[in-house]
Amino acid sequence: MSYSNNKLLIDKIEVDRVAKQFGTPAYCYSYEKLKDNILKFQNDFRKFKPLICFAVKANNNIKILNEISKLGLGADVVSKGELVVALKSKINPKKIVFSGVGKTYDEIDFAIKKKILLINIESQSEIETILKIAKKNNKTIDIGIRLNPNVDAKTIKQITTGKKINKFGLTEKEVIGLIKNYKNSKYLNIKCLSVHIGSQITSHLPYLKMLRAVQKVIDRSNFHFDYIDLGGGMGIDYKNNNKLLNYKKYSEQINKFVIKNKVKIIFEPGRSIVGNTGFLIAKIIYIKKTSRINFIIIDAGMNDLIRPALYKAYHKIIPTKKNKKKILKIHEFVGPVCETTDKFLSVKSYQKLHEGDNVVICDVGAYGKVLSSNYNLRINASEVLIKKSKVFRIDKKEGLRKFI
Ligand SMILES: *Cc1c(COP(=O)(O)O)cnc(C)c1O
Repeated sequence: MSYSNNKLLIDKIEVDRVAKQFGTPAYCYSYEKLKDNILKFQNDFRKFKPLICFAVKANNNIKILNEISKLGLGADVVSKGELVVALKSKINPKKIVFSGVGKTYDEIDFAIKKKILLINIESQSEIETILKIAKKNNKTIDIGIRLNPNVDAKTIKQITTGKKINKFGLTEKEVIGLIKNYKNSKYLNIKCLSVHIGSQITSHLPYLKMLRAVQKVIDRSNFHFDYIDLGGGMGIDYKNNNKLLNYKKYSEQINKFVIKNKVKIIFEPGRSIVGNTGFLIAKIIYIKKTSRINFIIIDAGMNDLIRPALYKAYHKIIPTKKNKKKILKIHEFVGPVCETTDKFLSVKSYQKLHEGDNVVICDVGAYGKVLSSNYNLRINASEVLIKKSKVFRIDKKEGLRKFI
């Protein structure tokens, strides 16, 4: 992303041109960034060559998943729908893990038929469901057990998952109990211990605590797991303040752990793979000036991107045409939806803007389009991919059809 002659470019393509051709609001993704992120992730952990299972819930666009698949990644899915789309995008089933606290009989049955790598179970009841299916088909099912390590990820509370008060996983004691009960089962093959403590984590310290909790389970159960699935959660730099976790320290600790325990590592990153690959292009419909605030009313709403309303998430907003005229007044970027929380950003000053100009909301590749809705009966934003200096439309052009 850069400016040339004051015009914003993404991978050398002029953003205003994309807006004109595909309309606004539009989610625009950069293939270059996606590839960079994946290569960087692989490189950061190259010493122990993990299996990287992209968390499909962060972005389930089938074309994006297909690119991710071609770059060698597997998938972490949390529903039958995600599994179907992941398989359709040509992700190898032997690189797919299935997570989630509420997998139904039908979902588990389907996943078993598709011969995926692992089902990561989160409760005793889920084991019983798997046993039923295994017995019916006279099969042995490979499973992982999700540990709740009771570690505070030090991220915002709505996206913390690894504390005792969260619904996810099983306690150390429960995990050890399950291993004891099922390690000789004819129908279950306990292959993996999994953890995932939360999202947008920007320090390696909670991860090191998590790793110690995993080591404790291994030691106390005296059981060998083929895989240790360390989940995802790596944060990205939304605010451009370089507050990021120390991959080197995290990687070094894991490498020691791998040598000691002779295990293969699985990761389930979502945000860190796709977060900064996505841009939401929106047009300024009106500028409404009040005594204190300039409301910049854009044609993207909370239905298109709910993170600011849901988590008070910060996304920077940049103009597609840069100028040097700075207006010293509060600028509040809002959408057209009839809700007060339909608000993206408030800043103390901004460059001069005009109705009809376009702006870009940054870092929306993860938990952007997937969390969108048709609230206020607004049709979904289109999605485009920039790859090798070409722009492709990659959404399903649904329009109003599903309502009429
Ligand atoms: C959401 C989730 C992930 C991905 O989290 P990110 O913060 O996007 O990396 C991975 N594993 C599980 C089990 C999840 O629920």
